[in-house]
Amino acid sequence: MPLFTTHAIVTRTLNYGESDKILTFFTRDFGKLKGIAKGARRSKKRFQNVLGLFSHLRLIFFDREGMGLVRAESGDLLNAFPNIREDLKKIYYGSYYLELANEMTGEREANPEAFDLLLSFLVDLDAADTEEERLRMFEIRMLSLFGYRPHLIRCGLCRRGWEEMREAPSVFFSLEKGTLVCGRCSRNGERLIPLSVGTARLIDQVSQMELAKLHRLKFTPQALSESREILPRFITHQLGKELKSLKVLREIKR
Ligand SMILES: [Zn+2]
Repeated sequence: MPLFTTHAIVTRTLNYGESDKILTFFTRDFGKLKGIAKGARRSKKRFQNVLGLFSHLRLIFFDREGMGLVRAESGDLLNAFPNIREDLKKIYYGSYYLELANEMTGEREANPEAFDLLLSFLVDLDAADTEEERLRMFEIRMLSLFGYRPHLIRCGLCRRGWEEMREAPSVFFSLEKGTLVCGRCSRNGERLIPLSVGTARLIDQVSQMELAKLHRLKFTPQALSESREILPRFITHQLGKELKSLKVLREIKR
């Protein structure tokens, strides 16, 4: 049976039977993989607590048919993110990262950049305080990596850009189209959410900036509240359902 190795993050874990675990991994080379770890709860030697939620590990697995469950054979723990596990708010944030990554990607569709993004946001969450703008940045980047980048440079209907919108400065985001809609065109549209040009500009910057420089961008309170209205709803619209962890985040915000 072919044996493979890849970097993986544990995004779901479920006890199964007497001693097994069923897991979902977000892997760098194979995308989302579901697997079984036989005897994981009994054999300390092979898995040494590496299969907890959030864990970043080097995973060794068997894959017989290139479909269905893989068989996790062993793993070397690279980062357990201990600070995330000890802080309830960080757990909520991290759970949202995991769920979003899980839902955006199909099984066995490799997206190494999305893996690197998830890993970098978990590293940051482990090291730093929770800041809501990080959630929004993660959403923007994930949307971009999976082909749903919001188009915010010009009106999606009349193609006028920011500069030409000055005389009618109220602009909107269209959930249906995933684009900006200017004040003039807004009558024709449905499901429009107001936003400022400043927020449109910021979201566009976040989608393009080098990952390592992302922390230089700061959200104003207005940008934060506008992007909170737009991004989670756009994601819900794209996925056709609301993520559970998103509901939890909204509740703790209240
Ligand atoms: Zn327009």
